[in-house]
Amino acid sequence: MPEGPTIVILCEEVAKFRGKVVRNVEGNTRLIDPERMLRKKVLAIRSWGKHFLVQFSGFTLKVHFMLFGRYRVDERKENASPRLSLGFANGELNLYACSVKYLEGAPEDHYDWRSDVMAPEWDPALARRKLRAMPDMLACDALLDQSVFSGVGNIIKNEVLWRIRVSPLSTVGALSPKKLAEMVEEARVYSFQFLEWKKQHVLRKHYQAHQRSYCPRCGMKLRVAHLGRTHRRAFWCEHCQKKYGGLAETPARAYAPRKKKATKALKKPARRGE
Ligand SMILES: [Zn+2]
Repeated sequence: MPEGPTIVILCEEVAKFRGKVVRNVEGNTRLIDPERMLRKKVLAIRSWGKHFLVQFSGFTLKVHFMLFGRYRVDERKENASPRLSLGFANGELNLYACSVKYLEGAPEDHYDWRSDVMAPEWDPALARRKLRAMPDMLACDALLDQSVFSGVGNIIKNEVLWRIRVSPLSTVGALSPKKLAEMVEEARVYSFQFLEWKKQHVLRKHYQAHQRSYCPRCGMKLRVAHLGRTHRRAFWCEHCQKKYGGLAETPARAYAPRKKKATKALKKPARRGE
């Protein structure tokens, strides 16, 4: 799944379509009417976390790449028909296996860029406040919570927790204010390093925990497990990543399958710990 920095790269690659008129649309999407974009001018191309946004007058195309989504600029994938293809005088953008939707009005009506780790508007104090309001959440879930860290995906999660020496099974409420601040700070710092490494095609080489077998810091074998409500794969070192609070040794709850609408309770959080 593309993480926030990958969508930032996509935005840079297709910046040449800003101000251009859509000359041709096609695709196998049944969820939207692609014709609506025909002969319309692209006003802006931007991202919010993992969402890729193409803004037109009065509406915005929202693209989410889900697990298997891909894109091609000025070329097509072999043996695959695009979900959506936008043709311009100076090239084309092809989107595959992604979710597409229209948002009515301006993007600002739908998104708060203060929670996007890649955005200039990113607000670390707001992120810390949101985290303090979810004391029972596991650290691995907190980093993947898009309402707090929009753009953070599984790679960033594993690497940030390794860097700040916090076990993914820690609970947010047990972290000291200093550790919490480190988590917020490092989520942004690592995301920008991810961006640079990805552009240079050397991201994988820099993994310290994600998909690694041994901890590069102490040499211990890393633990691997599907954790938390998102059930995503965590890689961590039990020797150098401390568990603050958290679950008992057999974290049955942590391995429970993902529950739908689990984030609902977080939207109106109890203001504990403030
Ligand atoms: Zn270690």
